Amino acid sequence: MDSSAPAASKKAGFAKMLMAAALTSTIVFALALLGIYTRAAFDLASLWPANAVLLGILAIYPKANSPLAWILSATAFMAADLVSGGDIQRAALLNATNLVGVATGLALIRLWSSRFFPMARPSSVVRFSVVVLAASLACGIAGGLIAGPLLGLERLEGFFLWTASEAVNYAIFLPLVMGGRLIKPRKPALPFQESAELPEKAAAIAALIASCALMPFVGGAGTLMLHVPAFIWCSTLFRPRIALVLSGLAAMWILFAVPVGLIPLYVDNVPLDSPWDVASFRLGIASLALGSLAMVMLNAFWHDAHDEIEHRANHDFLTGLLNRRQFNETAEANLIRQRAGTPNVALAIDVDHFKSINDTHGHPLGDHVLQVVASLLAAGLRKGDILGRLGGEEFAIVLPGAGIEEGTRVAERIREAIAAEALQHGDLAIATSVSIGLVEFNAPANLPRMLSLADEALYEAKNAGRNRVVAHKSAALLQAAGA
Ligand code: GH3
Ligand code: MG
Ligand code: MG
Repeated sequence: MDSSAPAASKKAGFAKMLMAAALTSTIVFALALLGIYTRAAFDLASLWPANAVLLGILAIYPKANSPLAWILSATAFMAADLVSGGDIQRAALLNATNLVGVATGLALIRLWSSRFFPMARPSSVVRFSVVVLAASLACGIAGGLIAGPLLGLERLEGFFLWTASEAVNYAIFLPLVMGGRLIKPRKPALPFQESAELPEKAAAIAALIASCALMPFVGGAGTLMLHVPAFIWCSTLFRPRIALVLSGLAAMWILFAVPVGLIPLYVDNVPLDSPWDVASFRLGIASLALGSLAMVMLNAFWHDAHDEIEHRANHDFLTGLLNRRQFNETAEANLIRQRAGTPNVALAIDVDHFKSINDTHGHPLGDHVLQVVASLLAAGLRKGDILGRLGGEEFAIVLPGAGIEEGTRVAERIREAIAAEALQHGDLAIATSVSIGLVEFNAPANLPRMLSLADEALYEAKNAGRNRVVAHKSAALLQAAGA
């Protein structure tokens, strides 16, 4: 027996854990330094992303959550303080409170993990806010009670300021780190779905930047909300992760610009200086960030539900192809966009003797044959070709830009592929074939009329013995006559 394999995989697992812990603690070290130096440079404008980023990493990569990662991260917090000239005892107390907050947040996320990743319903946003609040409160209680006096603050004052500072950083940075896991990936857009145009996106970003830039000139308590309408606009246009970055940037701008005096929070320009004032300000920005997250998530939920309903409404349940109505709408919309005179080919496809497959082998096998035929049809097409199941065992294709030669080549390729497919049913190999009728026409054209010409050609193919391709001979004449 080879005992080296488990040992080797154990070794590889340990190496991975070591790498993850080293990477996590390096990030913590860098972010803690960033926090320390922005605090030193801008006094109260402190950003402290380290806790939220650590919590985010440990939550989304369970493998990174090892005792070693905790030890190295604690060391990284300490190292950042010591490198920047901090006192070791004080640093130990401050950093212990950071870890208390992270541990509390992580415990809650793990408790709720199945309902947390990805966020699938609006109540998940409330859960997220509870995590932010719990992590901040835990850190605030520990920090306020122990380290508050250390920094010359009343206990209650220290608790409030600490909690609010943690809340604002968790509310901004946690969604940024966890974004990819929180949000269900959106299905790729279908050709007929609208997506926001670049000019509208640019206008929304410009409005967001302009409203942030206006804050210093407007001033007063209300100025902090000035960007909300522009953000709502952005959140409806951009993918959730980009919208989260935008909301994070807006919050960071306010968090920086108010304490340094760029945005006067009071009309008579009194600076933001008492700890209560700062705490209240940070709590407000935390609430704003959570509100923005809710907006982004609600939009994502709406898109998710809408995409699902739209997909069901437009697709055939059995084969996943466009249904008759959506096939017609997509093909018509495509024709309208074409320049006059552009050639097109319409194909009408019908499975041969399908009734006897149903009768001999049963309806479920008939369904399976339809699925196989549908996938072979789809496999024979290019991007931009339009394929639908019109009903029963009848399918249709429009090849935009194709002439009769190309259309015939495509039809032959499809016919051959289906005829060559031997469907295994128990010991039996079931042969299937299709008959195809096609017609060439130029845009603009009456699509239902063209499909019925393709259908005429299809019936010729059936009459000529099935498993063949027939092009409508009189199509050009009919079209010239304006039919
Ligand atoms: P032809 O070669 O002339 O086209 O003969 P055919 O047997 O294919 O044509 P016919 O129109 O007589 O039969 C079509 C059959 O398709 C009848 C219907 O029960 C069956 N059918 C329609 N929809 C479905 C479906 O969703 N699943 C299955 N299994 N059968 C279906
Ligand atoms: Mg039929
Ligand atoms: Mg048939």
